[in-house]
Amino acid sequence: MKVLSLQIKEIALQGGAHLAGITSVERLADSPPSGNAETLMPGARSVISFAIALDKNRTTSFLEKRDWKSHCIDRKATVQRLYSIGDILVQSLESLGYRAVNVNINNNYLPEKGAADITEMTEFHPEFSHRYAGVAAGLGRLGWSGNLMTPEYGALVELGSVITDAVLDEDPLCEQNPCDGCKMCATVCPVGMIHPGESQTVRIAGITETISRKQPNTCCWIGCTGYEGLSTRGDWSNWSPYRLAAPLPENKPELDALCISLQKSDPQMQDGDNAFEDYRKTVFDPEWLYYTVCGFCRSVCMKDRTERLENRKSIHHSGTAALAPDGHHVKAGKNSIKVSTSFGLEVVINPSDFTDINRILPSRGKNPLDREVLRELREYRSADKEFQELT
Ligand code: SF4
Ligand code: SF4
Repeated sequence: MKVLSLQIKEIALQGGAHLAGITSVERLADSPPSGNAETLMPGARSVISFAIALDKNRTTSFLEKRDWKSHCIDRKATVQRLYSIGDILVQSLESLGYRAVNVNINNNYLPEKGAADITEMTEFHPEFSHRYAGVAAGLGRLGWSGNLMTPEYGALVELGSVITDAVLDEDPLCEQNPCDGCKMCATVCPVGMIHPGESQTVRIAGITETISRKQPNTCCWIGCTGYEGLSTRGDWSNWSPYRLAAPLPENKPELDALCISLQKSDPQMQDGDNAFEDYRKTVFDPEWLYYTVCGFCRSVCMKDRTERLENRKSIHHSGTAALAPDGHHVKAGKNSIKVSTSFGLEVVINPSDFTDINRILPSRGKNPLDREVLRELREYRSADKEFQELT
């Protein structure tokens, strides 16, 4: 199978992947449940793991709060390319008589007891972990953040996986972990998900990875979805213009309950066509905005330590985000204010942007929460009320 294994990786690289590797399913046997390829394909024998590096300049502009959308556009195009590479691999394997599955890039989670749908989930363990596959296929190792860190591109990669029943030759593991323990990932998480000092271990492919002790996954969900964007320091945020009225709870049951209540009132979750129903279909919708406001723990983690230091500085000096009348996220000005919404969140706006009611233009293609919040702001201004500062 040596020739086929080389051919398969070459197909991924020709399709636009920057990295490609192969692991046997046996090698993943000691990993947590998300490393079990048989969940998606009983009888699976091998996994092809592949990665595309994100655009560094666009990421830097994102971290500096100079430009929100370019990084969103890059991530959407990258995910589309990953799906396409996976499709080509599946076709190639099937044409030789093997079975193969192109694993969804995101938003597919193992069922959780008692959770009727995504809004009631609290663990968010993927059906199959691209990160674990990446470690086992030799693409990289888990960094302190828990993200896959590659020697070539740091953690600034998006990952894809194809599971197959073909027995392929596995690649050597990445012996040297590229994570140097700089802890920049911990300092740029607005919601304190990543502990800077306390650790836990994860076993994958015979390797014991030491990563940070994390807050419950609902903590990241709240920060990464953008329900709370402000850092605990209070002088910088991710790209979310939303704020919670109180600090995040410290215990899991309360964090989980808060996350569920926010998800239940999020208009995105009421949209029948949301990205959680069919991620692939949504990603290929030309109208859909790839709405990303965080991922700072990964984006900060470029290959070189000097870059990571610069990125941390950029984030900490980037200021905070506000919602603009056209649904764009912009940098908050000195006179920005917070306005209460009916979604359990406050929204930061620059009041001067909203003086003219006709500039508040809810439109298609924007994030549903932003759209509905803009509708409320429009109603508020139509009633000829001045925005009242909350604090
Ligand atoms: S930011 Fe530093 S500590 Fe965190 S994963 Fe990257 S290299 Fe490791
Ligand atoms: S994605 Fe954002 S909120 Fe989640 S752990 Fe990373 S930095 Fe923190």
